[in-house]
Amino acid sequence: MTAVVIATAILTLSNCGKPQGPPLVVIGLDGATWEKLDPWLEQGKLPNLKALRDRSAYGTLNSVMPYLSPPAWTSATTGVNPGRHGIFDFQRRLADSDKIVSETANSRRTQPIWNLLKGEGPRVCIINVPMTDPPDEVDGVMVSGFPHVSGRNWVYPPERQPEIEAMGYLRDQMEMKLPGGEEQAVLDSLMLIQEKRFELAKKLYQEEPWRLFWVVFTQTDRVQHLFWKFDDPESPVYDPETAEKFGGSIERLWVRCDELLGEFIALIPEDANILVLSDHGFGPIRREFRAGNYLRSTESGFTRDEAIDVFTLDRSDAARLYVRQLGKDPGATRTSEQARELEARLAERFRTLVDPETGKSPFDRVDEKHEIFKGEQSEKGPNINLTPAPGYYVALGDRDEGYQLPSFGDPRSTLSGWHRMNGIVMIAGPNIKPGPLPTNEVHSLLDVVPTALYLLDHTIPKDLYGKVISSGIDPAYWQAHPPVTEGLVQPESNPLTPEEEAQIKNLPYVGG
Ligand SMILES: [Zn+2]
Repeated sequence: MTAVVIATAILTLSNCGKPQGPPLVVIGLDGATWEKLDPWLEQGKLPNLKALRDRSAYGTLNSVMPYLSPPAWTSATTGVNPGRHGIFDFQRRLADSDKIVSETANSRRTQPIWNLLKGEGPRVCIINVPMTDPPDEVDGVMVSGFPHVSGRNWVYPPERQPEIEAMGYLRDQMEMKLPGGEEQAVLDSLMLIQEKRFELAKKLYQEEPWRLFWVVFTQTDRVQHLFWKFDDPESPVYDPETAEKFGGSIERLWVRCDELLGEFIALIPEDANILVLSDHGFGPIRREFRAGNYLRSTESGFTRDEAIDVFTLDRSDAARLYVRQLGKDPGATRTSEQARELEARLAERFRTLVDPETGKSPFDRVDEKHEIFKGEQSEKGPNINLTPAPGYYVALGDRDEGYQLPSFGDPRSTLSGWHRMNGIVMIAGPNIKPGPLPTNEVHSLLDVVPTALYLLDHTIPKDLYGKVISSGIDPAYWQAHPPVTEGLVQPESNPLTPEEEAQIKNLPYVGG
C-alpha cells in the first residue's frame, strides 16, 4: 500500500498539467450472475463482494450476441459490436478453405481501451482477458488470456514471461472435460489456477500505480459449466450419489474467490475506481436441441442439400449457423442472394419451432446476421444466431453416427451449465452513487469502455456503440463533469504472417 501511495505521488508530479482521473481497476468475473450470487451475498458467504457492492452502483449487464467469452470480452474492451471488432467465436474458417482454426487476437479489427491510453503517461496492466493472445504491445504489461497459440510468447514485454512462469502461474486449459471419477482433480485444478491468477494479479498490481489495471478471473465460468449438475436436481443427469460429494463445488470456488478478492481489493487505494463485470450470465442445461438432426428431419421441411449447406464452426455447440456461399466456402453452390434466402427460411422455421415434449420454443431469440451485427466485419458472422431458452443447449447432434437421434432429447454434452444473456456490473469509486441501477434501464458490455474512459477522465470516441452508465455516477459530479466525446477509434490491422498462419493448430472445443 505504502509503495503505491508514494508511487502515485511521484506520478502525479511528473504528470502535472495533464488531466488524469483516478486510476481504474477492472475485475472480470467470467460468467458471474446475480441469480447465483444473490443468495450467497444474503447469507454472508461472500463478505468481500458484499462490502464492495454496498459501496457500488450495481445491476445487470447484458452481454452481446453471440454471448461467448471471445466476442463478449472483445466487446467489453473495445466498446463495439462483433460486427465491428470481427470476433464472433472461438474458431474461424480459413479463407476459401474447409479448415477451421482457433480464433486469435489477430482477428480483432478495432482498438481496445489499452491502445487508446497508449502514450498518455501512467501505464496499463492487463491480465487474462480472453482473446488477447498474441499480446498487444501495451504501455505496460499484458498477460494474454486464452485461447493460446502454441509456441508463441504470451506475455508482453516478452522478457517478463520467464518470471511469471517461475511463479507457477497457470494459463487456462483449452478443453473442458469432466470425466467420471476425476471430478475432485478437475475442481482442485480450477482452484489452483484461480489461486495462481490472484497471486499474479496482487504481485503485478503492487509494482506501479497503473492507470488501468484489468484482470479477468475465468474459473468462475469453468466451474459453472462443469459442476452445475451436482446442484441441479432437475438436471436429467443429476445423480444423488455424486451430488452428495460434489454438490456445492461452485459455491466453494466462489467463496475462495471472494476471500482472494478481499485480499486484492485491500491493495487498491480508496480514491481509485473499481469496475466489476461479467461477460455473460449463467444457467442450467437440462435439455438439448440438435440442430444438425433437426435440419435433416422430414418435419423441418429442408432438403438434404440445404441441410448440408448449413454448417457450424464448433463440433458441439450449434447455436451459430453458417450458410455455405459461393466465393466464400469451397464447394458452395449458393449465390449470396440464395444464401440469404435460406438464412431467412431458417430463421422463420426456428421462430415457430417447439419442443414436442414441452410445447414451448427452445429459443429465447432467433436472429439473422443483419439484425444483430453492425459494422464492416458483419459478413464474417454467423447467418443465424440462436439464443437458447432457459435450460436449453443447442447442440450439433450425433454427426459421427449420421444424425440418428431425435431433434430433442437429454443433453449429451459434458457441460451442465451454459451462458445466459444477463451478466453483472458493479462500479465503486469517489464519484459513484452507490445503490442498484434503475431496472428500467438497459446496460450492456458495450457501455464498459465509455464508462471506463469517463471514469479515467478521458475523451470518449464518437463511434463507440455504448454509453456511459450515467445513473451510477453521483448526479452533482455528472453535472459538473459531462462526458467529452471526441474523435474516432482507429481500425486495427494485425493480420498473421503466412508462417504464423501455418503455426496455428486446430484447437479443440473450449466453450468458455
Ligand atoms: Zn463459458
